[in-house]
Amino acid sequence: MESDIKLIDEAGKRLDGRKIDELREIKIEAGVLHRAEGSCYLEWGGNKVVAAVYGPREAIPKHTQDPLKAVVRARYNMAAFSVDDRKRPGPDRRSREISKVTSEALEKIVITDKFPRAAIDVNIEVLEAEAGTRCAGLTAAGVALADAGIPMKDIPVACAAGKIGSHDENGNKKGGYVVLDLGKKEDNFGDADLPIGISPRTGEIILLQMDGHLTLEEFDQALDLAIKGCKIISEIQKKALLDKYQIDLEVN
Ligand code: ADP
Repeated sequence: MESDIKLIDEAGKRLDGRKIDELREIKIEAGVLHRAEGSCYLEWGGNKVVAAVYGPREAIPKHTQDPLKAVVRARYNMAAFSVDDRKRPGPDRRSREISKVTSEALEKIVITDKFPRAAIDVNIEVLEAEAGTRCAGLTAAGVALADAGIPMKDIPVACAAGKIGSHDENGNKKGGYVVLDLGKKEDNFGDADLPIGISPRTGEIILLQMDGHLTLEEFDQALDLAIKGCKIISEIQKKALLDKYQIDLEVN
């Protein structure tokens, strides 16, 4: 992740005009699909993601059942048209990895022992991708699970922080800034990306991945910043759910 382009200026202003601790714009809507038990549509910068929850229902095939608890099966998929160069449809290494870490993150939050032998399916479809889709997917999944009424300890939320290089007046690379929520160019040409997922109430970390290099000090700084981002997004999640159920209450 070597940087050749100028991602941040001397005043700490980023390519898209954001400050170092500023998120891209986020919009969340709960309950957008009628055939799913719970669903969510989320826009986060240039990312557009739908999450749909089905279940709890009997896990099939039977050998996937756990007699003591439900299995949470997240499936992350990027649409072929979600990126500039058409993406080859179907699962690949990256989408399998994201599905796995998302399933593991959700299993830490869903109260699975209420539904022995069941499966809870969480489908995450990325319609447009512009960096940070695993965080967008996990955040949307949290809202969709809450919309489905699945018992959870909390509503999971995710956000990344990272490091982007800065340049001196001669254009030579020097140092870098730890920043919140990398955009596409920052992800491509930055030095590091640290996506995390948390339970916002307890602060428990349910997902943590890292790409690139950070010193220990930068890691701590990035972690703190990402947690701050998660807490802001958590409020947007709650508002989306309140908005939906408020309308339902008013109509009925
Ligand atoms: P995340 O989306 O969670 O940041 P990555 O760091 O793996 O995950 O991907 C960063 C970005 O790279 C994605 O959001 C997407 O915009 C782009 N990208 C990922 N996979 C592909 C692909 N197969 N073709 C084109 N662009 C891709």
